[in-house]
Amino acid sequence: MNELRCKVLVIGGGPGGYVAAIRAGELGLDTVLVEDGQFGGACLHVGCIPSKAIIHAADAAHALTEPLALNAIGLTLTAPTLDFAKTIAWKDAIVARLATGVGALLKKAGVRSLRGRATIVDGKSAIAHADTGDQRIVCEHLVIATGSEPMALEALPFDGEDVLSSTEALALTEVPKTLAVVGAGYIGMELGMAFAKLGARVTIVEALPRILPLYDPELTQPVARRLADLGVKTLVEARALSFAKGALKVAGPDGSETTVAADKVLVAVGRRARTAGLGLEKLDLAMAGPFIRVDARSATSMRNVWAIGDVTGEPMLAHRAMAQGEMVAEIIAGARRAFDHRAIPSICFTDPEVVVVGLAPEAAKAAHGEILVGVFPFFANGRAMTLQDDEGFVRIVARADNHVVLGVHAVGAGVSELSAAFALALEMGARLEDVAGTIHAHPTLSEAFHESALKALGKPLHI
Ligand code: FAD
Ligand code: NAD
Repeated sequence: MNELRCKVLVIGGGPGGYVAAIRAGELGLDTVLVEDGQFGGACLHVGCIPSKAIIHAADAAHALTEPLALNAIGLTLTAPTLDFAKTIAWKDAIVARLATGVGALLKKAGVRSLRGRATIVDGKSAIAHADTGDQRIVCEHLVIATGSEPMALEALPFDGEDVLSSTEALALTEVPKTLAVVGAGYIGMELGMAFAKLGARVTIVEALPRILPLYDPELTQPVARRLADLGVKTLVEARALSFAKGALKVAGPDGSETTVAADKVLVAVGRRARTAGLGLEKLDLAMAGPFIRVDARSATSMRNVWAIGDVTGEPMLAHRAMAQGEMVAEIIAGARRAFDHRAIPSICFTDPEVVVVGLAPEAAKAAHGEILVGVFPFFANGRAMTLQDDEGFVRIVARADNHVVLGVHAVGAGVSELSAAFALALEMGARLEDVAGTIHAHPTLSEAFHESALKALGKPLHI
């Protein structure tokens, strides 16, 4: 068997692994990256990018079906038609363009990339099973970045045809007439809303008492209202029991059974670490449940074996995987680094979008005692009105004693782009006065951030 020697071996070329490899290469470390599928991982091929492309297409299509909003700005249209196969081809072209970019970046950084499934032999070597034959790779540092895969329900196994994971749902070439979505978390809500806008009759089945249970209810109420406007039926405290062609059987909170019309069922009840067949048992690493346990440096329990991204558990977010990947490469190169970020922004790309950076009021109170909260609604923001969407608000949470900002949250159209400002404020240890003392351009949605700080300080201007 061929043998390849390197300083750093990265297994998995998703956002965690490819960023780790690029940074390691840039730092002059001899680096090999092995990827079983396609460089870019779940995020680029079946996750963040394809879902956001479909969400954009759904928003564009839906905007043309809102006569009242169109009439208000003087537009009248005849009924639009949608060629969904073309939408999917457009989405695939974006993915292909970005994937080519990832390949070019790896090459530019001097990373040796191999396509094939890697199995770990021990802490210093692995075998890549490539089309061209098996290759033994010996390294000084092993970085595990094998990501995650969709979790199935025992009662509803994926069949690739009718009962789908997000991967197959993002590749449908026709919009189903009826769609049942099991799980009202990130994926269920983002894709459920998008398919509703594309014309599917959607029913959401969630085990807990409300949608998006990971966020506080104040933030999710505008999303629940929009779901109702879109005609999406939501069944909470509900359990999917079984599926037979066209019908999903569901049990309600009292045990009573109903049947939901469903040409397709999207099961989105979480993702699990992708470690099957990796040979993890050879390392006997400390685990955190099904995930690899890591410390603040992303070090595992074995010296010079590192793990990053989804394989290390929640929050399963691409930007967190990338930040860990960059950090691990720098540590291997000799830097003193730790993953000590003040906050990891999370965004749900629903309509309206939800952004959470840092602590919500209840958690802030529990951790720091007395707090100040400032909420500024978009109905008082000129830019939101001109964009024909003034639902939602920005909420800032700060310590009462020294006004240090602990969290910023928002729900509203386009608020995903405000997340950078929120995260920067937290990372730099801003106080309410810093946000209030910054000139925010007019007219922009970001003025709601400024006004939320003014409000928390008891001196609002526009409300
Ligand atoms: P992955 O992206 O899963 O990459 C792991 C790679 O390792 C894969 O390419 C896989 O083929 C490879 N691999 C696995 N085992 C082996 C092996 N033995 N040998 C060789 N290669 C192997 N996150 C966000 O931040 N924002 C979003 O908007 C967002 N939207 C999402 C939408 C959907 C529908 C989904 C499913 C996920 C979304 N996510 C989003 C989550 C995001 O995709 C993940 O957090 C991110 O991809 C994790 O990166 P990773 O590098 O840890 O793993
Ligand atoms: P999730 O954890 O966000 O949501 C799963 C939902 O399913 C929860 O509301 C849960 O209560 C519900 N549920 C669990 N078991 C159920 C059952 N038997 N019946 C009905 N409901 C059930 O998981 P997801 O939506 O599958 O997303 C997976 C991961 O991907 C997330 O952890 C997230 O980090 C990542 N992701 C992120 C984004 C983003 O950043 N915008 C988008 C998509 C996915």
